[in-house]
Amino acid sequence: MATVDMAKIVALAKRRGFVFPASEIYGGLGSTWDYGPLGVELKNNVKRAWWKSVVYERDDIEGMDGAILMNRLVWKYSGHEETFSDPLVDCRECKGRFRADKIYELDCPNHKQKVSACAEKLTEPRAFNLMFKTNVGPVEEDAAVAYLRPETAQSMFVNFKNIVDSRWRKVPFGIAQIGKAFRNEIVPGNFTFRTREFEQMEIEFFCKPGTDEEWHRHWIETRHAWYLKMGIRPENIRRYTQEKDELAHYAAACTDIQYRFFPEREDQEKQWDELEGVANRTDYDLSIHSKGKDEKWGSHNEHSTERLIYRDPVSNEKFVPYVIEPSAGADRATLAFLLDAYSEKEGPDGTRVVLKLHPQLAPIKVAVLPLAKNKPEIVEKAKAIKAALQKSGIRTVYDDTGGIGRLYARQDEIGTPFCVTVDFDTLGQGKKNDDGTSDTSDLIDTVTVRDRDTWEQVRIPIASLKQYLQEKLDTE
Ligand code: ATP
Repeated sequence: MATVDMAKIVALAKRRGFVFPASEIYGGLGSTWDYGPLGVELKNNVKRAWWKSVVYERDDIEGMDGAILMNRLVWKYSGHEETFSDPLVDCRECKGRFRADKIYELDCPNHKQKVSACAEKLTEPRAFNLMFKTNVGPVEEDAAVAYLRPETAQSMFVNFKNIVDSRWRKVPFGIAQIGKAFRNEIVPGNFTFRTREFEQMEIEFFCKPGTDEEWHRHWIETRHAWYLKMGIRPENIRRYTQEKDELAHYAAACTDIQYRFFPEREDQEKQWDELEGVANRTDYDLSIHSKGKDEKWGSHNEHSTERLIYRDPVSNEKFVPYVIEPSAGADRATLAFLLDAYSEKEGPDGTRVVLKLHPQLAPIKVAVLPLAKNKPEIVEKAKAIKAALQKSGIRTVYDDTGGIGRLYARQDEIGTPFCVTVDFDTLGQGKKNDDGTSDTSDLIDTVTVRDRDTWEQVRIPIASLKQYLQEKLDTE
């Protein structure tokens, strides 16, 4: 079970440069956050690990990167203009505004009690559209209206034909995309859990009707397994199958992968919230973006130039593919990895924070630390080792700004899996030459490598250091 509540993570994130409140010196802007030097590395690593597992390690997914601004008609036909809304309630007394279906978790800032306790003062819920509106070009007329996309999914649907044609793809196959999405959330909050600007990592997987349930199961298993592989503890992740009345009208099924984001909440059920949704969206998306009438969905598309139908090249059978959509949040996943990695350990100088991030996710993989910064030979050697490791693609830093205990503690706190220490023995290992000088070749010189999780140290010849670290960091 997670041992840390959000407040500790927010403080650590600020203290160590993972995440800062955005526009802080002007008082911030409602639930916007900036990723700092370590945060950008961590989130990039999360996105890279996701991309590697869904695009590079499979043979049935193509990647793409669509525009944030799309033709308004996309949102008309997808139904977002009409229905992408959350139920909004106002408190008649304090004028606070709340999302009706998420009331239980909120404190009313004015009444200093849970909003649910103000129930009799609330108005009836009404729909509040979550899309951010803007204008394209120097005009403010209705015809110039565009939206910041509230999900990345739609550009994958409208590019279905382009990708089939350009990449000779046969169904089943999928499209993957990582990108920003924007939602004017009624009540954002809980750090980066719910923000108005966030990043999604989405897959739209197209399959033949009739095989959809099997593919849905495949994706639920695959995505759940990925979080475990990347280090989430099994007791902190679970699946929640949505009831019929919770499903979007077009969806045949949806399973949420939930993380225990709020272990501090008394009510066990309320400790969990969505990390990723895996939905069976049926043939809705490709049908409603196809030109002409669609009997099944009662749609009539007068603007699309294409029929997004697939013809099987062998059987000549035509069908509208079903879509399985595993939709994850890059920020939520990053937050879950941070929460899950947090641990405290008694060290020589008191309690230390150790971030046990998976090596693939750790912002910095190796720190090279000289034991004495006033010894030029040691500093030179340490800097050379840093440069060599970095050159081979291992994210490495050099740090000599404190005593060794302090330097270790600093790296533990930011999740660096290995510290390499260059000490007097490093240079003193070489055998004496006849003229009394030392032979300090990398073949016999050694450094110590300290493991973040066990604090154990081993001595390794410099010549085999890169290979040693690469093998350790490559753990799946
Ligand atoms: P919720 O019910 O929490 O509002 P949702 O079901 O509307 O989420 P989806 O539309 O399924 O979310 O989006 C897919 C994923 O995108 C979510 O699982 C989450 O990880 C991420 N996400 C959605 N909204 C936000 C947000 N406001 N801030 C950060 N991440 C978000």
